[in-house]
Amino acid sequence: MHIHIFWDSLSPAGLQMPVTRTISSIIGMPATVSENPVRMMGYVDGRKQIDAQVLLDSIQAYKHRHRMKEPLLLVVHQDLFKNGNSFVFGLARQSVGAAVVSTARLSNEYYGRDGNDDDLIDRITKEGAHEVGHLLGLEHCSDKECIMFKPDTLDELDRKKKMFCTTCREHLAAHLISD
Ligand SMILES: [Zn+2]
Ligand SMILES: [Zn+2]
Repeated sequence: MHIHIFWDSLSPAGLQMPVTRTISSIIGMPATVSENPVRMMGYVDGRKQIDAQVLLDSIQAYKHRHRMKEPLLLVVHQDLFKNGNSFVFGLARQSVGAAVVSTARLSNEYYGRDGNDDDLIDRITKEGAHEVGHLLGLEHCSDKECIMFKPDTLDELDRKKKMFCTTCREHLAAHLISD
């Protein structure tokens, strides 16, 4: 089994290799990255955001068409929302192994600070590994430093470490064996 990462053409260029490598080492599973072939659906003009559920439908359709069973993570630059939330950093649909993360709110520039590629790589990696964790059967975790902690703010995201806590790591191992 390995993780597929699709990188949208408008996502930050040049960061796909370090992000892919680090997600692979956090999860402990090989990962590959390629240009995104999935149709970008769900853009809502009035909000200038993408409805993450609609985009997940599109990813699901792609996976079905290509009989792709392995976990798939799409990285996009557009801001995402879902019903009832003004925004989401990312969203996973565990039943079909499909997830999406947005880089829109992960850059320092978004918050009026100086840009820094290392910060951006760290955040995309943490968000990406979090959503892939869901695809591999993990739920949210109350440990603020664990990848599976659900951050509501950038500071909470930055406080997380690039690793699972012991409990989540054990759950992950158990899920991977039972598959
Ligand atoms: Zn989550
Ligand atoms: Zn945990």
